[in-house]
Amino acid sequence: MTLGAVSLRQIHKAYGSYKALDGISLDIAAGEFLTLLGPSGSGKTTLLNVIAGFERPDGGSLLVDNAEFITKPPHKRNLGMVFQSYALFPHMDVFANVAYPLKLRKVDAATTKLKVTKALETVHMAHLAGRRINELSGGQRQRVALARAIVFEPKLLLMDEPLSALDKNLREHMQIELKRLHRSLGMTTVYVTHDQQEALTMSDRIAVLDRGRIMQLDTPRNIYDAPNCKFVAGFMGDTRFLSVVRSGSDFALNGKRVRLSNPAKPKAGEDAWLMVRPERLRWHGAPEQDNCIEGRVVDVIYQGDSHMISIALPENDEISIRHTGAEGVALPASGDSLKLWMTPQSSVIVGGPRQ
Ligand code: ADP
Ligand code: MG
Repeated sequence: MTLGAVSLRQIHKAYGSYKALDGISLDIAAGEFLTLLGPSGSGKTTLLNVIAGFERPDGGSLLVDNAEFITKPPHKRNLGMVFQSYALFPHMDVFANVAYPLKLRKVDAATTKLKVTKALETVHMAHLAGRRINELSGGQRQRVALARAIVFEPKLLLMDEPLSALDKNLREHMQIELKRLHRSLGMTTVYVTHDQQEALTMSDRIAVLDRGRIMQLDTPRNIYDAPNCKFVAGFMGDTRFLSVVRSGSDFALNGKRVRLSNPAKPKAGEDAWLMVRPERLRWHGAPEQDNCIEGRVVDVIYQGDSHMISIALPENDEISIRHTGAEGVALPASGDSLKLWMTPQSSVIVGGPRQ
């Protein structure tokens, strides 16, 4: 019984002189939900296509359950795939679409009926088995695509931005459904998205990509709370950066040492930055003396569940805090001076370029 453990070593892929994948090494455990997260053009689809066999890398190795995969043609890899565009057959009904992979595998009619029905039940589409694809909504089509990908019980499921064509509510609903489906079926899943919230919601681990490299590979919590560089910190959440000055092993903000409870991340010679996120800043109760920032309120914007308060700092920086009302304190007004601070536990210093 194979389990779907994936091992990538030093995968390179260039288009002309552009390195789309620049030495990717990654181990994905059997049954894991791993997300490739990164901005457009960072190499996510290229990496997924290398695993699927649609792209041949220039170098490196790819093992699935210790078997070399690079020389294996796509149809022999036995992978389930779901794309952003559903890639369904519009002239066939739902049942025939889902049955297609079984037809290719010459599965008999009785077994096909059983397996298609089970796959359609899994995605809550059994009642629409006789519908044509062009009579379905976007969310229903994506469910059919998913049923087609899992009907032959692949050990590895690859998904490339499968929810990005859906509207926000349906997308969030499908995220939870996909996560439950993964939990119940247990196949190894490699999921591609450029949406950080989606990655945080769904994944066991996230690999953050930038220009064909893995910048950080970690749990959602560590990717968000303990980014290892300015790129990852900036890609996650509503993040601003304040320049800090290195002196020996310490860092100073406006001439005062920043107190940290975690090691600072910048490498030697790198510019250093204090990561500032709205939910990490404190601004009421007894102020701390450490890690303080003083500023002036420039905007208070109502956002339904909260107010976003924009604060101008000396040096032209701007940061924001979120006021949910649960704080039990009055909303500040434009023009007010405000003293903000961050606890050592929530203060993170990362390295990276100015831009
Ligand atoms: P992502 O999925 O993260 O948006 P891709 O993997 O599609 O990124 O692309 C990574 C980079 O490789 C991009 O700069 C893209 O333009 C380039 N690229 C992808 N496929 C090709 C191709 N077939 N020919 C030339 N360049 C390509
Ligand atoms: Mg892509």
